[in-house]
Amino acid sequence: MKNRINELFNIQYPIVQAGMIWCSGWRLASAVSKAGALGVIGSGSMYPEVLEEHIVKCKKATNKPFAVNLPLLYPDIDKHVATIIKHKVPIVFTSAGNPKTWTETLKKEGIIVVHVVSSVKFALKAEDAGVDAIVAEGFEAGGHNGRDETTTFCLIPMVAAAVKIPVIGAGGIGTGRGMLAALVLGADGVQIGSRFVTTDESSAHSNFKKAIINAQEGDTQLTLKELTPVRLMKNKFYNDIELAYAKEASTDELAELLGRGRAKKGMFEGDLEEGELEIGQISGMIKGIKPAEEVLMEIITECRLASIEYKNPKYNF
Ligand code: NDP
Ligand code: NDP
Repeated sequence: MKNRINELFNIQYPIVQAGMIWCSGWRLASAVSKAGALGVIGSGSMYPEVLEEHIVKCKKATNKPFAVNLPLLYPDIDKHVATIIKHKVPIVFTSAGNPKTWTETLKKEGIIVVHVVSSVKFALKAEDAGVDAIVAEGFEAGGHNGRDETTTFCLIPMVAAAVKIPVIGAGGIGTGRGMLAALVLGADGVQIGSRFVTTDESSAHSNFKKAIINAQEGDTQLTLKELTPVRLMKNKFYNDIELAYAKEASTDELAELLGRGRAKKGMFEGDLEEGELEIGQISGMIKGIKPAEEVLMEIITECRLASIEYKNPKYNF
């Protein structure tokens, strides 16, 4: 059977590796694309010349399609867009902003545009803006997150019912069973972030990778809703945020506590105490650091086996 996501991106498996700041550079993106899914470079943490370097290296490493994630609140966004157009990046995932702003410009260049949303309202807005597909990302996801706390289990069917364009389910998906569940709920494909952070090719610091592997259920929390809601791993920095809340800190005081470059400190430089460690709830299930291709094949195999299980008489009520 034809799959709308495979056809749109010209890939073998309907899996997107999420664009993640400090974790998904050209090494991870090219490894995932080479293995038959869609690799995504996370440009939010890259200065313009760094993004250009990563695009050039990604193209050298694979001739398969890959994408760039463009957070729309990135300060030098014009430069990133110019680089993406210059190097003919085939697919762009936009996030954290109004999809109307850049969709037309990118599509005029023949670029496929996908927008990340956390609610039905924004999904409709993105469809109206002319994007080719939507990532519906639920509350379980790591990093920046929606304010409404809609879970993936509820978000996917509601978004799938509301829009005509293909839907990529995201948030809390890191296994083949999770992937199958998302497809059953109405998604055409899935986006997976956290599970790809603990791959050999991810640029996350090894301290961060080890912390993810040791994480248990309940070790992440969505916080800082007054600034930009973010799901992160509980650590000293998280405890400092809790203390600030207990003292009824103002938004300005919270912004001051967050400061600048916390995500880099935690995820790229490996400071597990003072850094911001953005990761999803699925981290409680992640075991082992492996090559990205192995992770991808594990997910595909488990999804296929689980789909066969559905034919088991025990589901024949
Ligand atoms: P290379 O294999 O070419 O080299 C690794 C580079 O990373 C080194 O130049 C080193 O800088 C730098 N680096 C390593 N650890 C840190 C750190 N803790 N803080 C700051 N810099 C560090 O790298 P790639 O080809 O993989 O990447 C090319 C460029 O992209 C590099 O500059 C890298 O830092 C950056 N990058 C950015 C990412 C992001 O999300 N923003 C993700 C991955 C890479 P030094 O010369 O000081 O040793
Ligand atoms: P901060 O404001 O705390 O720090 C900015 C960081 O981005 C610094 O570490 C800086 O690197 C790096 N950077 C890269 N390019 C630039 C640039 N042109 N101007 C200034 N800084 C730059 O931001 P965060 O670390 O919290 O987030 C970084 C970016 O990632 C933001 O654009 C944010 O919106 C985006 N983001 C997107 C997410 C999403 O779309 N889901 C999730 C999380 C973040 P250096 O320290 O080397 O100067």
